[in-house]
Amino acid sequence: MEYVSLGKTGLKISRLSLGSWLTFGKQIGDNDAEDLMRIAYDNGINFFDNAEIYSRGMSEEVMGKILTKLGWSRDSYIVSSKVFFGNGGQLPTQKGLNRKHVFEACHQALKRLQVDYLDLYLCHRPDKATPIEETVWAMHHLIAQGKVLYWGTSEWSAQEIMEAHMFARQNHLIGPVVEQPEYNLFTREKVENEFSQLYKTVGLGTTIWSPLASGILSGKYNDSFPDSTRLGMEGLEWLKDKNFTEDRVLKSRQLNSLADDLGLSLPVLSIAWCLKNPTVSTVILGASKTSQLSENLKAISAQELLTTEVMERIELIMGNKPRKPDY
Ligand code: NDP
Repeated sequence: MEYVSLGKTGLKISRLSLGSWLTFGKQIGDNDAEDLMRIAYDNGINFFDNAEIYSRGMSEEVMGKILTKLGWSRDSYIVSSKVFFGNGGQLPTQKGLNRKHVFEACHQALKRLQVDYLDLYLCHRPDKATPIEETVWAMHHLIAQGKVLYWGTSEWSAQEIMEAHMFARQNHLIGPVVEQPEYNLFTREKVENEFSQLYKTVGLGTTIWSPLASGILSGKYNDSFPDSTRLGMEGLEWLKDKNFTEDRVLKSRQLNSLADDLGLSLPVLSIAWCLKNPTVSTVILGASKTSQLSENLKAISAQELLTTEVMERIELIMGNKPRKPDY
């Protein structure tokens, strides 16, 4: 495993990490979740990603039970939660980035995860109904109280992140240090273009999600639609519509033959491609089976096969390199 500093912080995070969206507390049983965490940890993964909304709190409960059962030393891993969507409650006070929900959601996450503090606490989406100042104060206070160590954002715009920073700086508060954006061979604009100044100015770290575009980049949708996979799950038609498109499948077939030439599987090539970007601090893996995780872990060593020439061949296939501004 490789470790890097998360942005400009001193926190050393593993370049591959494990997330629990749609799997823990939903698609897979608790024993399978435990096996995944054990394999991840034994292979040097030190970051486990979670959120209040994942399986409406169940994902954090499952992870909390596993953390307690496995008894890993608290100083050996990083665990996150994310706030905004709530955990299923429909009342007006049960979601958002207002001080009340941020405070209560943090306490609920600590309880479910059975930990005394969260290493990372992320604002899962921007909240147009709450002033950014209120959220910065709420996060600062949680850090001052020792309940959170670092805070960040997910799917915020560069401008929103910068606003939070400016307010924090002007008021001597602790600002966000990390953003969690989608990043994969199909979705590149934010990470490669929009945030490019933030890496320099504020030292933004990134924990990127959906490196396989929910499984399309595993190649298993290339020839037919397989049974029992994420994109066939009830209620996830929106995710299937987003990812299972003719263009994506076509590109994935072309990438597959390039991966074959290199002696790699397509998921390993796709994850290694994310790792090649130095502005990516960690790639959060998702897996419904231990065999998937074991395969995907090979991406660390596969990076050396992605030479300049191979990266150019990938660009030729994708044809979607974000255009940088001329200034
Ligand atoms: P991926 O895009 O890598 O999708 C993971 C899924 O793809 C697996 O659950 C599995 O689904 C399939 N898969 C993975 N590896 C293989 C393989 N080798 N062969 C075949 N199929 C494979 O990542 P996720 O979308 O799961 O995102 C990762 C994490 O990022 C999440 O768990 C979460 O922590 C975070 N996240 C954050 C978001 C945010 O808004 N901040 C949003 C989404 C995710 P299956 O077997 O069911 O087909």
